[in-house]
Order: sequence, then C-alpha cells, then structure tokens
Amino acid sequence: MQRRLFVALVVAVLIAVIITGSLIMSLLRINYLNDLEDKLLTNSKLIRYNIDENYNITDFDRLAKNYSKEINTRISFIDKQGWLIGDSEVNIEIAENHFNREEVKIALQGRIATAKRYSKSLDKNMFYVAIPYNNQIAVIRLSVPLTYATEYYRDIFKYILISIGFGTIVAIFLGYRYIYSITNPIKQLTSATKSIAKGNYGEKVYYTSHDEIGMLANSFNIMSKKLYDNIEELKENSTKTKAILKSMINGIIAINNNNNIIFINPTAEKMFGLVEEDVRNKSILDILSDEELKNEIKELLESNITSKIEIEVYNPYKVLSVYTNIIVLDNDPTRKIGVVISFQDITDMRKLEIMRKDFVANVSHELKTPLTSIQGFIETLKNGEIKDEKVRNRFLDIIDIESKRLTALIKDLLILSDIENKHQMVSMQNINIRKCIVDLIEMFEKIASKKNIKIKEKISGGLPSIYGNISWFKQIIINLIDNSIKYTPSGGKIEIIGYEIDDKIHIRVKDTGIGISKEHISRLFERFYRVDKARSRKIGGTGLGLAIVKHIVIAFKGEIKVKSEVNKGTEFEVIIPVNSDNLYKSGIEE
Ligand code: ADP
Repeated sequence: MQRRLFVALVVAVLIAVIITGSLIMSLLRINYLNDLEDKLLTNSKLIRYNIDENYNITDFDRLAKNYSKEINTRISFIDKQGWLIGDSEVNIEIAENHFNREEVKIALQGRIATAKRYSKSLDKNMFYVAIPYNNQIAVIRLSVPLTYATEYYRDIFKYILISIGFGTIVAIFLGYRYIYSITNPIKQLTSATKSIAKGNYGEKVYYTSHDEIGMLANSFNIMSKKLYDNIEELKENSTKTKAILKSMINGIIAINNNNNIIFINPTAEKMFGLVEEDVRNKSILDILSDEELKNEIKELLESNITSKIEIEVYNPYKVLSVYTNIIVLDNDPTRKIGVVISFQDITDMRKLEIMRKDFVANVSHELKTPLTSIQGFIETLKNGEIKDEKVRNRFLDIIDIESKRLTALIKDLLILSDIENKHQMVSMQNINIRKCIVDLIEMFEKIASKKNIKIKEKISGGLPSIYGNISWFKQIIINLIDNSIKYTPSGGKIEIIGYEIDDKIHIRVKDTGIGISKEHISRLFERFYRVDKARSRKIGGTGLGLAIVKHIVIAFKGEIKVKSEVNKGTEFEVIIPVNSDNLYKSGIEE
C-alpha cells in the first residue's frame, strides 16, 4: 500500500508539475510576445513621431542605423513600392523588394501589422511590427530576431525546471513522510490484527498521535485489551467448567441437536469404555452398545423434555440413573442447542438397599425363630397342661437355650453396629498379640477339652505389637477359635500360628474340622450366611461371627483369607499391617 501510494504521489506531483510548467511556459511566451509587440510598437510610434518631414530620402538609412543602435532593434523604412529606403541591418542597394512581405502589405494598406517569419535578408526567424507612415516612407518596420525569445524561453525554462525539480523533490520527500506517517500505523495495525487472528490476544499498537489514525490505534488497543480480558475470562470459565465436569462422579455426555456428542467427561468415558477423541461429533445412538439403553435414550431425546429414568445395563452389569436436560441459550430460552445427559451409577446404592432389606428380613427371621419357640413353650407351661416335671424342665432348658441364642444374636448385632458406626477405633492401645492369643486359648481350653479338642499355639517370640482396639482384636480370635471348636468333631486339633513378614502380622487359625466346600467360600463373610443352617443353629451359631471378623480386619486395614478342604479342615488367615494407622473408614459391606 505504501508503495502504491508513493507511486501515485510521484505521478500526481509529476503531472501537476508538468501541467503547471507548461502553463507557465505558454503564459510567459504569450506575455513575452505581447511585451515585445508593445515595445516594438511604442518604439515604431516614437520613431514615426520623431521623423522630420524635411528629411532627405538618403537620410533614412543612417537614421535606421542610429535608432537601431539605441534600441537594439532592426529598423527598416520602406517606400510605397516596397523598396527599402533605410535599414539598420541590410544594404538597401542590394536588398530585395519587400512589397510582398506579409506585415508590409498590411501596413501599406494603412494598418498596424505584426508577423513572425523567416527573414531571407537576415537568414533568421524574426518578429516584425510594421506601422504605416506618409507617402515618402510608407512603412516603418521594427523587428527583432526570434532567437531572443528562444533564449529567453530557455532561461525561463531552466529556472522553471530547477524550481520544479526542487519543488518535486521537496513534495516527494514531504509526501513520503506523510504517507509513511499514515501507512506505518496501518502496517502496525495490520500486523497486530494478524497476530490477534493467530491467537495472540492483547497485541498493542504504539502510535501516540492525536489524529484520526491515532484515535483508530487507541480504539484498537482498547478493543485488543477488552478482547484479551474477555478471552482470558472465557478461558478461565471454560477451564473451571471443564475441571468441574471432569471431576464429577456422574457421567456427563452433551450432545447437539443432531444427537452428535460435543462433550463427554472421563466418568462417562470409563462408564461406557469410550474415548472422547473417537466419539466426538458422532451420534450418541451409534456409540452406545447397550440396545436397551440406546432405545431409552432415543425415547428420552424424542420426548424433548427434561426427564429421568432408571435402567439396568449389562456387560458389565450396572444400574444407571439417566437424566436428560435440554440445553437452551441464556438469552433465548426458546432455542434448544442440545441436551446434557447425566448418568449416575447407582449399582452400589441399589446393592446396599437390597442388602439392608435382606439384613432386616434376616434379623427379623433370626429373632422371630427363637422368640416363637420361647413363646410357644411359655404358653404351654402357663396352661399347666404339662404335669411331668422332666418334660417341664426340658421345656425350660429349650427356653434357656433359645434365650441364650437371642442374647448371642443381639450381642453380635450390637458388635456389628458398633464396628459399622464408629469411624475411628475407640480405646486405642498397643496390643501384645502373643499375650492376647495365649489368654484367649486359655479361656477356650475348657470348652475344647469337653470335645476332646486340643488347642496348640505357635506364636513367634518378639512379635511387634499392633495399635488398635484390643476388644475388637480379641473378637477376631474369639470368633475364629469358637468356629473351629464348633465345626471340629471330637478328638480334633486346633493350631494357632502367628508370625511377622514384611511388617505384617499373620495369624492363622487352623483346624481339623468338617471343612467347607468351595462354592461356599466366597459367601462365608456375608451376614447370616451359613453352610449348614440347621447345624449352625443347633450349635448356637448366629451366622454373624465371620461377618464381624471381616469388618474388624478391615478396620485394622488388614485382610482375611480362607483355605479349606471338606472333612480335612479349615484355615483362616488374618493379615494385619504393623503400622496400620488408626483411622478407620466405615464403608463396610458384605
Ligand atoms: P455361625 O455363627 O453360623 O458360625 P459364622 O459367620 O461364624 O456363623 O460362620 C459362617 C459359616 O461358616 C458357618 O455357619 C459355618 O458353616 C462356616 N464355618 C465357619 N468357620 C468354620 C470352620 N472353622 N470350619 C467349618 N466351617 C466353618
């Protein structure tokens, strides 16, 4: 642009200069010729006025030469027949007749005449002025060579050329500076605009003038700053929104009006095994693999209203709560731009609900059985129908057994709820494992010996102590030894082994009992799960012993393993880290 403007300026200056120069030249030319004509005319009139009537014809040649010296002009006196009777330049004796000279002809007719033409006598281009006189000298003619004019023009032309040249240089120099002062900020503006277009928001133009371009640059800088601020704000908002959406535990998929995915958060990616790059701009109905979910979503989208459904999907199994929300523009709520679909995985919630329902049903059932039995026997005894004391005592024994079972059940339930409700272990202390286990074995020895079962202890010396609730730790050992005694026939053997590997305490309770078949192993730790219900009941089991063990082990940040072989025996292994911190997060499940 700068070059084009400069070329245009140079051309305009040159055209202006050429036109002005030519006009000046022709004006000067006209003026010069007019002046020359005036001068020659005045001089001829003066000469005419000064000519004495009594002059002899022979005087005119001398007269012409004298006047000519004074006024530096060729002077010719011509008679009626056109012959020269005096001439300052030419020898009149040999001069040609001038009758047919243009100016002479007119002057002979009594009028003033001028002419520019070639003079044969002088062999030059001349300018002639001829005026009429009286009979003797018919014409007085004054002439000057046109070469004077040409020289004059040349001089003038030289000066004009110099001044024009100088003017042109100055005009071009000033013009260039002016063009530069206009185009430079425009250049800056252009490059700043390009830079902004490339994403470098906040570009500035440095132009401090107060003219229109300065105002434009200033407005540009304000606009650029605003743009930068807005973009930064948008970026920040978008980053925040993305971070929020990404950290949401719900799966989020946003789709446009063509059902094409415009956003999917990591939870949804994980939920459906998708990758954002692969599914962006693809229809949600094409990428979901679960047919039922697909159909439900299709229906939800077709209904075009905000809705919610609950659906079970498979591979892997999940229960999902699906919400669809229409996205509308803030400034035009009637315009729908898409739909946000939110997926909440409520599988665990549903499982927990089912578990709680089952638990309540189980507890009710477990409580109801002994209570019905107790109630029945009490009714019978109250009726006084049983006269036999032996039978009455048997009934009382049954009532006693059932009450004890009830007490045991309630005790176990209380222990469970205690573990579940306490987020932190209470009564924390250092637990000497060996001492604890030895004391408990002593406690069980009496019951064991009744069944002729031997309890052996193999606890390594110098085991580090663990830190926690000692009653809970004891409960683990109690429940495991109790089960071993319960499910080991007479003459059996129980072994309790304790050692430390890699800062972990291993406690193994091993018996030579009835064992557990494989299919039951995975469910052993469920509440009220029993391999043989009747047997467990008969021997006073509550079905909660192992559930309690598992929950306490979790509280100690440990784990429990089972190895068992039917009719050979069972081994429960509890592993507790020595440095388990005392924080106990509940989250206990079956
Ligand atoms: P229960 O009160 O019925 O013993 P538990 O939760 O303690 O309930 O145990 C659940 C079930 O696991 C028991 O009913 C029993 O069938 C089986 N079981 C537990 N410990 C042993 C063991 N040492 N040997 C064989 N079976 C066992």
